[in-house]
Amino acid sequence: GLTHKLQETFKKLRGKGKLSEKDVKDAMREVKLALLEADVNYKVVKDFINVVTERAIGQEVMESLTPAQQVIKIVHEEMIKLMGSTESKINISPKPPTVIMLVGLQGAGKTTMAAKLALHLRKNNKHPLLVAADIYRPAAIKQLQILGGQIDIPVFTLGDKVNPVDIAKASLEYAKKNAKDIVIIDTAGRLHIDEELMLELEGIKKEVNPDEILLVVDAMTGQDAVNVAQSFNDKLDITGVILTKLDGDTRGGAALSVKAVTGKPIKYAGVGEKLSDLEIFYPDRMASRILGMGDILSLIEKAQQAIDEKKALEMQQKLERQEFTLEDFLDQMQQMKKLGPLKDLIKMIPGLDTSKLDDIDFEENEKEMAKIEAIIKSMTKEERRNPSIINSSRKKRIAKGSGTTIQDVNKLLNNFEQARKMMKQFSDMQKHVKKENLNF
Ligand code: GDP
Ligand code: MG
Repeated sequence: GLTHKLQETFKKLRGKGKLSEKDVKDAMREVKLALLEADVNYKVVKDFINVVTERAIGQEVMESLTPAQQVIKIVHEEMIKLMGSTESKINISPKPPTVIMLVGLQGAGKTTMAAKLALHLRKNNKHPLLVAADIYRPAAIKQLQILGGQIDIPVFTLGDKVNPVDIAKASLEYAKKNAKDIVIIDTAGRLHIDEELMLELEGIKKEVNPDEILLVVDAMTGQDAVNVAQSFNDKLDITGVILTKLDGDTRGGAALSVKAVTGKPIKYAGVGEKLSDLEIFYPDRMASRILGMGDILSLIEKAQQAIDEKKALEMQQKLERQEFTLEDFLDQMQQMKKLGPLKDLIKMIPGLDTSKLDDIDFEENEKEMAKIEAIIKSMTKEERRNPSIINSSRKKRIAKGSGTTIQDVNKLLNNFEQARKMMKQFSDMQKHVKKENLNF
């Protein structure tokens, strides 16, 4: 892939103390080939290489970097610029509802993205409404309803006999009446761009005057995605692009070219089929990813989301049914551990006063957690699911198996029972609050 090729190129530079003009040009030739092979638009590549070469040859020598590192740094910076420098926020209308129209070819991922966006925006305290305006594809309405159902977001539909312009219009009225502050319109696609589709989309645009027209394109289609973006932009004057399927074996071409060709920023990326697989598009992170510099920030964000969402929902359901077991507890601890040392994790929480962290004995905490883990691991499946069967002879066995004491086992069981009660109360409280919110 692109990342590998770039790394190979940079590896060759690394051995050199001082780079000659020829070294830079040779390297840039390889970078150029790698980008073209990754399906980056030809003109974009040409301009990119020119800028990087010029900067790399005339570079101000920086003490802290080797010449090779400086070239990488320049490539990195120019890639970021190419993709728009900073992340692009969604336009929120001062007069709700904010209307977001999703457009794109069939199979690009519009319907999935509509649901992902709704989930994402609700996490930001919005109240989205999904609108089924694809009346052509069989089962398109049903698909949106199912996705909406999975995340508990309402879906507005008038069936497939009413034309999409009228559906869109009616959905706005509905949103106003029902206190929905974001309307996400899922429109129809075609296999190829055609006049009829464009007319329909223009019609919807004219009727609802969207705050955002986001073009959803499949990143795996490379240059084609960019051509599609150009056509849609010409007709609809889109406000941004969403790249989907960035999780697959994408060659990076679309991400690097879209902004340069259309002038419109990439706002979000779809990185999987699950509804939580949405990322805000950060040009710097994407550039780091392409260069293989690792993308620690995205990873952490993802890990946090994975825990937050799927697990939290599962746990919540289990709590409500009083089914939270020691097994789940173990599971949660292991999830936490996957993310790295507690101390490092906590430091990443935004807005945290880190001066207070020195007062916490993390080592002690981690030891305690390891102990708990050992104890739970020494239990049978049955014991983990139903701790009440753990009598004194079982306790003895568990303590021995985990290298702890019977007191340790007792302490864990007591703590767990208390935690369970507390969580139950908490979830009852939440349920209560939720119900009240529904009565607007
Ligand atoms: P639409 O025709 O544009 O509405 O596309 P859909 O939302 O129906 O998606 C088409 C297919 O792509 C479905 O099978 C989705 O599950 C899949 N899909 C959508 N987004 C992503 C993504 O970000 N990653 C992956 N791997 N698959 C995706
Ligand atoms: Mg669809």
